Amino acid sequence: MPTNLPLLTLPTAADATDATAPRLLILYTGGTVGMVINERQELVPMHFEKLDSQLPELRQLPYRLELLALPQPIDSSNVTPANWLLLARLIGHHYAHFDGFVVLHGTDTMAYSAAALSFLLEHLGKPVVFTGAQVPVGRTRSDAARNLLTALEIAAARHPRAHTVRLPEVGLFFNDVLIRGTRAKKVESQQFAAFKSENYPPLARAGINLDFNDKSIRLLPAARLHVHQQLEEKVAVLRLFPGITEAVVGAVLGVPGLRGCVLETYGSGNAPTAPWFLDCLAKACASGVYILNVSQCEEGRVVQGRYETSAHLTDLGVIGGDDITTEAAITKLMFVLGLGRGEAETRHLLSHDLRGEISPV
Ligand code: ASP
Repeated sequence: MPTNLPLLTLPTAADATDATAPRLLILYTGGTVGMVINERQELVPMHFEKLDSQLPELRQLPYRLELLALPQPIDSSNVTPANWLLLARLIGHHYAHFDGFVVLHGTDTMAYSAAALSFLLEHLGKPVVFTGAQVPVGRTRSDAARNLLTALEIAAARHPRAHTVRLPEVGLFFNDVLIRGTRAKKVESQQFAAFKSENYPPLARAGINLDFNDKSIRLLPAARLHVHQQLEEKVAVLRLFPGITEAVVGAVLGVPGLRGCVLETYGSGNAPTAPWFLDCLAKACASGVYILNVSQCEEGRVVQGRYETSAHLTDLGVIGGDDITTEAAITKLMFVLGLGRGEAETRHLLSHDLRGEISPV
C-alpha cells in the first residue's frame, strides 16, 4: 500500500499558520473506538472521516491536527505484521512534518502493535502514542474522548523548561496510564482500565494533572530515525501446561521452516525435564530455531539455572527472556529474525535490551 494516503485537516483552536502550535497526526486503524453495530447486532469497524463531528472537543485543542484513516479499518484481532510495516512506513513518511503521532487502534492486539512499532522505529525521537476505547466514540459513557484527548496531549508534550520532546518513544495510553510500548499487556475486556504495565513503571499518569515519570522515559542520543522494513513471520508461541504432550510440543516446534518460538514457561523460567521434552527442544535448536524463554508470571523474571528444571534449557541453547512480556517477545523475534543476521549476533540481540523491553538485573 502506498504511503501517500490522503490527510484530512481537522478544525481546531490552533491557527493553521501558527508554526508554534504542535502539529499532530492521528492514524486511524480501526478498533472499537470507531465501531458501529451492524444488522446482526455485532460491533464492526467503520470509516472514520467524521471524527471531529463525533468528538467536538477536538475543536478546542491548541494543536494543528490531521487525520490519516487507513482505507480498510479493521478489528485489531485481524492485525498482521503487514499492518505494522505499513504503520511504520506511514510514520516514517510523515515524520519530519509532525511533532507527534497518535495511533487509534483496537484494544485486543494494541500491546502487540505497540511493541512491534517500538522495534521497527529505531532511533525514534518523537512520541508515537497508541490508544483506543472500550466503548465506541459517540456512545453514552464512551471512553474514546478521554483516551484520545489525553493521548494527543501526551504526543504534544514538551519538557517545561528545556522544550525538548517529552516522550521520544512508542507509548500506549489507556484510561489513566501511559505505558511503554514494549511493556503493555491487555488485562481487562470489560472495565475501562484495560492495560497494565508489566515489570516496568508507567511513563505517566493522568489524573487532574498529566504527571510524567520522566526518569522512566528513555532518552537516547539524537540520531536519524531508521524505519525497519522486514519482519519474520515463521514464529510461534508455545505455552506450557501440566499434561502437555509430546505430540503438541513436537507439532509446534516441528513446523516446517519455523525460525523462532516463544516458550512460555513456569515461574522463573522452569520447564519439564522429561526426556521427550528435552529431545523436542534439542531437535528444534539443532535445526536452527531460536527459542526465547518467557515466564507465564506477570511479574518477576526468567533466571535459567536457578532451578534444576531450567538449568538444562541453557545447555540446549534456549535463550532466557529475562522480564520481557510475551507480546514484546514474539514481536522482537519477528524483528530480530527479520534482520537476517548471523547466529551469534541474533542470539546477542535476542538476549539484550533493544527498546526498553528488558530491565537490567
Ligand atoms: N475487538 C476490538 C479490537 O481490538 C476490541 C477493542 O477495540 O476494544 O479491534
